[in-house]
Amino acid sequence: MIKRALTIGGSDSGGGAGIQADIKTFSAFAVYGMSVLTAVTAQNSLNVNGITGIPPQFVSLQFESVLTDIGIDGVKTGMLFNAEIVQTVAQKLNENHIPLVVVDPVMRSKSGDILLENRGVDLLMEKLIPLATLLTPNIPEAEMLSGVPIRTDEDITTAAKKIHDLGCKAVLIKGGHRRGNATDILFDGVEFSKFTAPRIDTQNTHGTGCTYSAAILANLIKGKNLRDAIRLSKWFVTEAIKHAFPLGKGHGPLNHFIRIEK
Ligand code: PLP
Repeated sequence: MIKRALTIGGSDSGGGAGIQADIKTFSAFAVYGMSVLTAVTAQNSLNVNGITGIPPQFVSLQFESVLTDIGIDGVKTGMLFNAEIVQTVAQKLNENHIPLVVVDPVMRSKSGDILLENRGVDLLMEKLIPLATLLTPNIPEAEMLSGVPIRTDEDITTAAKKIHDLGCKAVLIKGGHRRGNATDILFDGVEFSKFTAPRIDTQNTHGTGCTYSAAILANLIKGKNLRDAIRLSKWFVTEAIKHAFPLGKGHGPLNHFIRIEK
């Protein structure tokens, strides 16, 4: 039977990030994609022009609707918008013992807009991160979650340990915001692993984080181990950036239609 992946996150009207990127990514890996919307953004490649949150009870109802009929093999969370939604999502995941949970702790967009209010960050740390199979912060998010300002490789190691102490099984700190190669560091509580790809000089990187975490979830659901799932997803994101579509006047979207050897 086809595997079923659920993304819990925000809609990007421009189609580059959020649940649109996630469902394209699930499809690229031949996994069936479903969505629970937490917020709707009015955005394009330049700006987020507006955000409206979905009432938490309606977030719950969407989750119940897919769970009770279609079933869920794994979940990724993206933009959660506010504390009430974080609380609702954590409760649903906890009650229903979802086996694979990838948490992308989305806080701001590339344009600087707030995608998770501050009170939501506290609840994310307390309630949602302990449920995560994998947490995928970028550097600013890792700094926020660990309280460690990150400048050196050693800072990443320190931050990774502090974040792991919040209760997730593993944390992948993504190096996209640093200079040089794009190197991500995984810590699973026992050992550190590095995943490196060349940095691509382009501004078409909108939705990179969403795509990466969705690809990891799809591969975990298909039975890959964590390191293989990350390796393949990193390759996918790198190729999707390399062949990105120059759409819009700002940060264009990735190309999710690249060929994947099965
Ligand atoms: N919009 C939504 C709905 C998102 O979920 C995200 C990121 O997760 C973004 C925008 C931000 O994407 P980017 O930082 O690539 O512009």
